[in-house]
Amino acid sequence: MEAIMILYFFLIGLALGSFTNVLIFRLPASISIVFPPSACPKCSARIKWYDNIPLLSWIILRGRCRSCSTAISPEYPIVEAISGVIAVLLYLKYGIKGETFIHLLLLPVFLSIVLIDFKTMFIHDSELIASAAIAIVYFILVWIRGNAIPLKNIYSALILLGIFFLIYFLGKIIYKKEAFGSGDVLLAPVIGIFLPMEHLFTYMIVATVSAAIYGVTVRILHKKESVPFGPFMIGAFYLVIFMGTELAKMFISLDKY
Ligand SMILES: [Zn+2]
Repeated sequence: MEAIMILYFFLIGLALGSFTNVLIFRLPASISIVFPPSACPKCSARIKWYDNIPLLSWIILRGRCRSCSTAISPEYPIVEAISGVIAVLLYLKYGIKGETFIHLLLLPVFLSIVLIDFKTMFIHDSELIASAAIAIVYFILVWIRGNAIPLKNIYSALILLGIFFLIYFLGKIIYKKEAFGSGDVLLAPVIGIFLPMEHLFTYMIVATVSAAIYGVTVRILHKKESVPFGPFMIGAFYLVIFMGTELAKMFISLDKY
């Protein structure tokens, strides 16, 4: 039974990953996400349903368009696979609960932010609005379940908003430039709503250290000045959701040395 459920959530994750690819491709190009149907970006041939099966189609077609043989980026199946794995992890963590379904809704929005921010250094308003709306639904669910206003979630959101706004503000004053975009500041309280307060410290360490390591690496390798921060905010979000307690224990044991 458990194996069937895991497979089932993996398939849901794959489908959500497929939708994520639509978002990643269409949002920056300002194309509607529902119309027209998917087509090859090179030869414009409509992609048939049997060539649009997440993960499998790319493998069967060996990463090429059926009509013009143009290479299709491995990014598509990779996004689908990551989405599938996160969906399974969500099921294993929460079971069949409201949280699981709200997190599944959030998954394509957050994954699209990761990929689009990496490519364009920009978080779209529609992504921020969608993730904020899902955060509000989550907040209401916690409220109804606990029969009291979930103040801890509000505090988490305010703390993260405060920290990010401060870094943004100080960066502007000291370096006369933005340490990160205003989109990152607006994303912070959305992430805060979902994170338990006791994990905020771990979250900030994982997000800033991973972004700093990446930033230094690309600066050395590619002489690139600016680094997107959204992908690290979201990467750290999933790491802390699934391994927050383990990471916190690790930081405490590091402290002993
Ligand atoms: Zn083609």
